[in-house]
Amino acid sequence: MKTNADTYNPLTTFADLPVSERLGRAVAEQGWDAPTPIQALALPELLRGEDVVGLAQTGSGKTAAFSIPLIEALDPKTKGIQALVLVPTRELAAQVAAEITSLSRHAPVRPIVLCGGVSIGPQIKALRNRSAGLVVGTPGRILDHLQRGTLQLGTVRYLVLDEADRMLDMGFAPDVGRILSHTPDERQTALFSATMPGTIQGMVERHMRSPHRLTVEAEAPTVDTVEQLYYRVDGRDKTRALRTLIDAAEEPRVVVFRRTKHGATKLHRQLERDGYRSGLLHGGKTQSQRDKTLAAFAGGRTRILVATNVAARGLDIPDVSHVVNYDLPEDADTYVHRIGRTARAGREGVAVTLLGDSERKEFDKIRRSLPAKVHESSLPLSA
Ligand code: AMP
Repeated sequence: MKTNADTYNPLTTFADLPVSERLGRAVAEQGWDAPTPIQALALPELLRGEDVVGLAQTGSGKTAAFSIPLIEALDPKTKGIQALVLVPTRELAAQVAAEITSLSRHAPVRPIVLCGGVSIGPQIKALRNRSAGLVVGTPGRILDHLQRGTLQLGTVRYLVLDEADRMLDMGFAPDVGRILSHTPDERQTALFSATMPGTIQGMVERHMRSPHRLTVEAEAPTVDTVEQLYYRVDGRDKTRALRTLIDAAEEPRVVVFRRTKHGATKLHRQLERDGYRSGLLHGGKTQSQRDKTLAAFAGGRTRILVATNVAARGLDIPDVSHVVNYDLPEDADTYVHRIGRTARAGREGVAVTLLGDSERKEFDKIRRSLPAKVHESSLPLSA
């Protein structure tokens, strides 16, 4: 596989992009100053038709890195599905579709989103009635459509595997393999992943044509712009500590992580009872409930979002001021993803871990594998 060193010819401004005038104008209208490192590396390669493996985290701007070339590759005159984006979660699918819609605003490509958790009927209808060139979805539901014969992928020319490590973690490997066997060999493939375990290497070797391997240094969005703190709190006082923290913050927009659905539900109820309007997000919610909760949070109608790890990856809400680990994350990787919900796109943010006595050992283990230091702090004075 080729690496950055062989191909390093990064893009320095968006204006240099060899794309159509209408796409160039939509990119300019995003208000982004300059390409992010992964965009600078991946855009020229993908626009040239090369396969790319990008080692990049969420928050790195990877969505635009694969979406701009994807939009450019779509031919409005051609029939059938031309591009397929596979993602691990419904939330990520919605975000990718939204970004593609925004970037294609002057020549809309209107993606069809195919995810589980919602009824399949309207999706079948959309596939039948709309001559969409692009599908974004999760592996399980896409495979379901393939098996029902409601989706054909024989005309796919551009394929994206986004957050590939996460898809494999979720047990989607066999589904992904089956889906790829429905696509032509002659296609362009982009794979993005935050980590590169052996299983992904295998996938790359099986399914890609001598891809360019691109790595960006910003492994953790965490290092520079997220202030990482922990407070020692007795297990019993965590809710009080959380309230103190929220009260002390100016215009807080807080994502609070719990490990279990039950824990999240309980905390949400408690906060509401105490007069703190908050949203609740976990895997047991329906898609429309999730959408509503996220919209209320993104729009500022609720300032607190209590969530399980479903929200740890891929969730892109601007202006999250605090991420709070009410319960410890399971491991360092989850920690990094959780705290990546704040300080997005160059903004500042605070990540706070509320540490109960019994969690200290486990937290020490996580801290040891983090690139940045997590400082001990004490609760704001108004406690
Ligand atoms: P992603 O890694 O794709 O989830 O993107 C993270 C966030 O960065 C999204 O809100 C994008 O809209 C934003 N973004 C993408 N590209 C840029 C850029 N070049 N400059 C600033 N923000 C960007």
